[in-house]
Amino acid sequence: MQTQPSSPPVTKTRRRTSGGFFYQMQIILAVAFFLATIFTSWVPGQSQPSIVAAPTLIVPTPTTVVASPIPGGPTATPRSRPLIGIVAGHWQNDSGAVCPDGLKEVEVNLNIAGLVQKLLTEKGFDTELLAEFDPRLNGYVADVLISIHNDSCDYINDQATGFKVASAKASTNAERAANLVACLRSRYAMITGLSLHSTSVTPDMASYHAFDEIDPITPAAIIETGFLNLDRQFLTQQPERAAQGVVAGILCFINHEEIFPATPVSTP
Ligand SMILES: [Zn+2]
Repeated sequence: MQTQPSSPPVTKTRRRTSGGFFYQMQIILAVAFFLATIFTSWVPGQSQPSIVAAPTLIVPTPTTVVASPIPGGPTATPRSRPLIGIVAGHWQNDSGAVCPDGLKEVEVNLNIAGLVQKLLTEKGFDTELLAEFDPRLNGYVADVLISIHNDSCDYINDQATGFKVASAKASTNAERAANLVACLRSRYAMITGLSLHSTSVTPDMASYHAFDEIDPITPAAIIETGFLNLDRQFLTQQPERAAQGVVAGILCFINHEEIFPATPVSTP
């Protein structure tokens, strides 16, 4: 940086205002240069803090962002007790299958689902009874989600009896889903005496809408606990046993119980 005439010439000009145009221009330029020199060689924070405030560096306090596993989904809270979601099939939406005398699938489903909830609550689980298209299903996080339905009230043939279990077709956690299905098949058959109607598990069951709505970490299955036609007596008069079968299947999965391979299978 170039040095320039400092104070003396400046004071001189104040006195000698009649020094001519070029002389005055020289002085003006000298002053301008002097000021420019001062400001450009200014080292912040050293001498004159009143002229230019030293920039305050704002460093954001690091914050730990805990992302919810699902955007807009429920905030995962640490649980001491497992949570089981139970969908009562068709509840708060439609009636499902309807029998000629007016018996509705939704009534049978809701009755069994309520009993499943009661049994699980008694065993110390947290439970949530959910409607068919419950808004809570979006991003639902639980240890198990089970949806309870029943099959047609029409007479199909003498083999239209028994239960069906399915999980999501393309589950992100296929092994856990398979374990849940195997547990439900094994325990429900054992407790109810009904046979697995495996050959009629429809694509509808595997592509059940809730499977796409819940958080992929939640193991989920849908069970048709019987046929409203041939299994009607069992479903309406012994719904506790149906509920016990579902609960035993859930416990088998939660407790990693050994799954017995022998499951009676009926043929269509
Ligand atoms: Zn149904």
